[in-house]
Amino acid sequence: MTYDRVYIRLAAAGDFDKKFLFDFQKELQNVLYDNGIKATCFYNNSGTIEVDKIPSGAYTSHIGKYNTHSLFSYGQTKREDSLKRLGQAAILLKVLVIVDVEIFKQGFAGLLFGEAEVGKDIAIISTAPLENHFKSTFLIKERALKEALHELGHTLGLDHCKNPGCAMNISKDIYDIDEKKKKYCIDCLNILFRGHR
Ligand SMILES: [Zn+2]
Repeated sequence: MTYDRVYIRLAAAGDFDKKFLFDFQKELQNVLYDNGIKATCFYNNSGTIEVDKIPSGAYTSHIGKYNTHSLFSYGQTKREDSLKRLGQAAILLKVLVIVDVEIFKQGFAGLLFGEAEVGKDIAIISTAPLENHFKSTFLIKERALKEALHELGHTLGLDHCKNPGCAMNISKDIYDIDEKKKKYCIDCLNILFRGHR
């Protein structure tokens, strides 16, 4: 694969600060570029920052968290919306759903930072578990960028990786995230660009 033109629709839902979202968009684009992926990251079809309410039905009261199943559907709706605008013609369009509430997936009891299926089009991240005692926006953004790179990596075909520092490492807690770089390791890059280097 080559990644000269990847579209990434950012679907933000929750109580987000627009400055945070603006910086996140710009920096995510830079981080992807540093990994050889020329991406256009955007919030809506007219290029402004759009923040939705958390989709109704996502809240699961007996768990007290929001299910990723509903968030995948929400992401899919955004993807279809952008496909109409961009045209169906063989474009690489991924959606990154960003929420600020705690998420869970069926059958997984641990702390969930995000979710995506390998080779599929929708990735989800949550900033809720990324917060620290100091409420440092910078740190939350750095962690969110790493998790975005991780989940988008899955959509681009990458699996988990054990190489130290690689963005595709599994993170059990925020300290694991802090250990990661905003980079895919050479092995992951080789998988990503297989046959085109
Ligand atoms: Zn790796």
